[in-house]
Amino acid sequence: MKKVAFYTLGCKLNYSETSTIGRIFQERGFEKVEFTDTPDIYVINTCSVTDNADKKCRKIVKEAQKHSPNAFITILGCYAQLKPKEISEIPGVDAVLGAAEKFQLVDILDGFTKKDKAEVYASPISEANKFHNSYSFGDRTRTFLKVQDGCDYSCSFCTIPLARGSSRSDSIENVVRAANEIAESGVKEIVLTGVNTGDFGLQDGTRVETFFDLVKELDKVENIERFRISSIEPNLLKDEIIEFVSQSNRFMPHFHIPLQSGSNKILKLMRRRYQRELYADRVATIKALMPHCCIGVDVIVGFPGETEEDFIETYNFINGLDVSYLHVFPYSERENTLAPEMPGKVSIKERNRRADMLRILSEKKKRFFYEQNIGREFTVLFEDDVKDGVMEGWTENYVRVAAKYDPILVNELKHIRLTGINATGLMEAEETYTEVLKH
Ligand code: SF4
Repeated sequence: MKKVAFYTLGCKLNYSETSTIGRIFQERGFEKVEFTDTPDIYVINTCSVTDNADKKCRKIVKEAQKHSPNAFITILGCYAQLKPKEISEIPGVDAVLGAAEKFQLVDILDGFTKKDKAEVYASPISEANKFHNSYSFGDRTRTFLKVQDGCDYSCSFCTIPLARGSSRSDSIENVVRAANEIAESGVKEIVLTGVNTGDFGLQDGTRVETFFDLVKELDKVENIERFRISSIEPNLLKDEIIEFVSQSNRFMPHFHIPLQSGSNKILKLMRRRYQRELYADRVATIKALMPHCCIGVDVIVGFPGETEEDFIETYNFINGLDVSYLHVFPYSERENTLAPEMPGKVSIKERNRRADMLRILSEKKKRFFYEQNIGREFTVLFEDDVKDGVMEGWTENYVRVAAKYDPILVNELKHIRLTGINATGLMEAEETYTEVLKH
């Protein structure tokens, strides 16, 4: 039996796809092993968003060769789609597969026999037009379920449409089937994942279903206690979705909504499909219906043309928003996008300074959000990891709770009251015995 090991870089989507490719291997008689277990085959799933994608890829290839010098090394994922030739020239790489080919790798690389030169199978991205359903089984508590792939937007900083192709989705019927399968395995929480998740519903370029339809159908899936929406564009987060989530016991009061900039001038240059007023409106609607809802925000700083005044505008805008945490990214040039050609380049040092300022703001926002939850009752889903006798889990509204490790609590929903914030910034809790209702 041949042994195969995996390494994943990048986002939740990549993790769910690696998991699925792993299951394809297992169905075909391969044994899935750890990276260090001298496998016969390595599959490295790359990301184009990460900085230094090339360097990271080289490093992992080297590492793989160290553990298993004769292994067949396959590279796939977003970076493989964007730079197949460059990757094929990395010493040690045996095969590179693009977006349209990655799920067929067991057939394409029949036998995994090393050739003199690396094999490259990467069709133009326009051919990556099929949806492949995927989900991850990370730990036993949470699963990332891919419901949508690709993106038809053209944000001026983003290479994802070039690496993953046009927007396409699974059908509601298939997603519900997958959710039931996941429930049977004992997992209690599903995170709905996509590149542009809110754009769910396009099949072969035609809109046949909507994300709201999907949410309503999934809400009926028994045995899945929790659904989260991983990230949704503000222009696609319609009031009807917010209202539905506020009434649902299965969809958690937690949204992650990319903002990218709080300056309308920069949003326009970024080619985002909304202005800051729409974003503020979404946050206000959510908070009016779910006062303890967690709201996460993505922000890019140092985009070309972002002056100090524009940045301060972003800072003040976010400071005034009732949001719970930020994911901050210093702008980074990507080949074949419009932004690098734009005037007003911001120095790397300045990008980092602005990112640091927003990261401090994020800490303050998070602390304030946690403090607002002290004394309130929630349900925590405890995870399997133990560190120094402590286990952790998430509440419905994405508060991270630490508790003394108790194996019986793993993958259980426990009713608790939040009592305070500990020295590491996690929340502490006491057990309660009442049923917790929706917040
Ligand atoms: S919405 Fe914009 S940032 Fe997001 S994947 Fe599409 S093009 Fe990229």
